[in-house]
Amino acid sequence: MNVVCSAIHVVLPTVGDGTIVGPFESHVESCVRCSSEADRYRSMHRELKGLEQLLDVAPRGLTRNVLTRLGPVAVADREPRRDNRIPVAAAAVVATAAAGTVVLLRLYRERAA
Ligand SMILES: [Zn+2]
Repeated sequence: MNVVCSAIHVVLPTVGDGTIVGPFESHVESCVRCSSEADRYRSMHRELKGLEQLLDVAPRGLTRNVLTRLGPVAVADREPRRDNRIPVAAAAVVATAAAGTVVLLRLYRERAA
């Protein structure tokens, strides 16, 4: 496994659907190991998307009931509002993708030099 393969294997979990774009796209298409790994991530992503249909709403008061049973050590977090979760998750995804891109570009430049 060379440096490019290693970098791609590190970044693949952060890509989401396993699709690498940019300067490493052609490597993933031509490298058997990276292509196989990307296929695994794409398959896992599809399976996880299928699980979205299995989501269920927690019973009202579940958090309070669980914390009551846990005793005085547990402290409830503030209830995160659903509309706050999406921007935070999107920001985390963008930050992770940006960091991964910087690492890949740095490795690519070092290899080209
Ligand atoms: Zn590779």
